[in-house]
Amino acid sequence: MNGACLLAALLLSRPLVAAAADESEDIRILVAEGVGGLSIRGAGLRVSDSGESFEVRGRSLRVDCRDGAAVVPGLAPGEGPVAVEAVGSLFAAGRELRGSIEVRCTGDRWMAINVLPLEAYLDAVLGAEMPPSFPPEALKAQAVAARSYALHRKIDAWAKGLPYHLGATVLSQVYGGVAAEDPRAKRAVDATRGEVLAYGMLPVEAYFHSACGGRTETGAAALGRDLPYLASVPCPCAAHAPHARWSVRVTEGELLRLAGALWGRSRVRDLAVSARTSTGRALTLRVTTRAGVRTVPAAELRSALGWLRLPSLWFDVRRRGDTFVFAGRGSGHGAGLCQWGARVLAEQGRGYREILAHYYPGTEVRRAY
Ligand SMILES: [Zn+2]
Repeated sequence: MNGACLLAALLLSRPLVAAAADESEDIRILVAEGVGGLSIRGAGLRVSDSGESFEVRGRSLRVDCRDGAAVVPGLAPGEGPVAVEAVGSLFAAGRELRGSIEVRCTGDRWMAINVLPLEAYLDAVLGAEMPPSFPPEALKAQAVAARSYALHRKIDAWAKGLPYHLGATVLSQVYGGVAAEDPRAKRAVDATRGEVLAYGMLPVEAYFHSACGGRTETGAAALGRDLPYLASVPCPCAAHAPHARWSVRVTEGELLRLAGALWGRSRVRDLAVSARTSTGRALTLRVTTRAGVRTVPAAELRSALGWLRLPSLWFDVRRRGDTFVFAGRGSGHGAGLCQWGARVLAEQGRGYREILAHYYPGTEVRRAY
């Protein structure tokens, strides 16, 4: 089903799911961008644009972008996208990929979009996003969440007229291509094939994170997404996740170098959490400097220090000598499915539908195809 049909079906308020996806549902992932040209390798390469299609001699092909046109040996330069297919997988931008690659040119810049079946995409996403050693019911919950999130983004991208649906990084869902696939993850994708988490008629924005630390955050506080199913719920991960509790030491010098722009680069005398969200996560910090007192959003401090350096916003901070000690819990933004919590619930015998109902209250699993 193409994007137009998809949106039309939604506008007609047909039940999501019969309408939103079928056997041929595919997904478009932006895997790389650059300037100049892109090399693609594979067996039996075939390249096509809107008018022509031919088989490439040899096992590699280069697509260059010049003044907005895709330049491919043997093909008349054109302004439209060029599609490259292979017999089996393709190699491009350092990854092995299933499906085809579409190259789009803007000036001398190129964009490589991997077009592949949604289910094949999920095989790779699941292998990268959740440890495949997690129990099968936790993996199945993650598979349905990732499928729902991808479909939500597909609808959103179509409405905005974007040429791709998702990126390949942690900002979307981590997509590593064939190298990230794992047979245990694939079993979970196959077992839930076509199943989508829906709220009303629509696939949900099924955000997920590593470990909440004991209670999930609301979508409004964590991501600015005030959605009824991204409510805060209790979670059993705290006693089990390896990073449920953490402590990070940041020297004053490092704090000033990485985040000083947030308060005018004055030396920091004191740092304290000045407001918290309803679940206890830091919302703002009070920074006391020689120049005065500033209030800065906690999320901006975390962004400046590094999302991995400061694993979550659920922390206290105190000064010890010339070092600030952040003591916190959980890892990630905290909204939606908690992966370590899902693991604990699965080990306690809960099924993936129960796990999803816990972390996304008010939603239901529906079969799309
Ligand atoms: Zn949790």
